[in-house]
Amino acid sequence: MLELGNVGKRQFEDLVSKNQNAGMSYIMAVYAALDKYLANEIKDSGVALTCGKGCAVCCYQMISCTKPEMDEIILFISRMEKGARHDLKKQLGQFAEEWEQYYSKNQLSLTQNPFLFVNDWKGKPCPFLGSDGACIIYPVRIIDCRTLSSLRKCETFETSRAQRHRFACETWANNLILDHQEDRFGYQAVSPLGHWLSICKKRNWQPIRDDELRLEGGDKSVLRSVRLGR
Ligand code: SF4
Repeated sequence: MLELGNVGKRQFEDLVSKNQNAGMSYIMAVYAALDKYLANEIKDSGVALTCGKGCAVCCYQMISCTKPEMDEIILFISRMEKGARHDLKKQLGQFAEEWEQYYSKNQLSLTQNPFLFVNDWKGKPCPFLGSDGACIIYPVRIIDCRTLSSLRKCETFETSRAQRHRFACETWANNLILDHQEDRFGYQAVSPLGHWLSICKKRNWQPIRDDELRLEGGDKSVLRSVRLGR
C-alpha cells in the first residue's frame, strides 16, 4: 500500500539512497524510485490514464530540464551505437541551430518572460522523438516526460483535450532533483532543451563542465523555476 505525506516522502528518499548504494547515479536513482512509485500509485489508485506507446502528443513541445538530467542524456547518447548516434547528433545539431536563431531574435523578450518559448514552441516535435513515435532516449527521459499523463485522450497538440493527472511522487522526485542542482550550482531552475543542446553542440557533444554552466546556464532569460508545491 502506497504511503503519502511525509511518511511516503521519507520512504521515497530511502529508496533513492538504496538505489544509489546499488551503484546508480543520483539522477538514475531518483528515476528508478519514481518509476516504481508511479507504477504503484497507478495500481493503488486505479486511475485510468489514456497514455501509451505510439501516442506522442506531449512530445510536440520544448521540454526543459536541469543540468544533472542533461548530463544523463549526453552520457546515454555517447553509449549509443555509432550509426544511431551520428544520426541523432545531426538532428540535435539542427534543433540547436533553430533554437539559437530563435534565441538571438527573442533574447530581450525571454528575459522579461522566461515562459515565452513554451507557447512559441507548441506543436514542434522534440528532437528525441523517433520516426516510429517512440522516444529515442527513453531510459533517461527527464522527469516531466515520465510523469506527464492524461485522463483523457489528447488527440492532437493543437486541439489538445489533455486532462493532466498529478502524482504525489512526482513532486518528491522533482524537488529532489532541483535540490540536487542547487547543491551543485546554487539555484533551482530548469532551462529549455534548445539551450542545453546549443552548449553541447559547441562542446562537440561532450558533457558540459560545471564551470561552463555557471557562465552559460546562469543566463536568467533561459531559467524557469518549477518547484512543485505539494
Ligand atoms: S524526451 Fe522523449 S518522451 Fe520527452 S518529449 Fe522528447 S521524445 Fe517525448
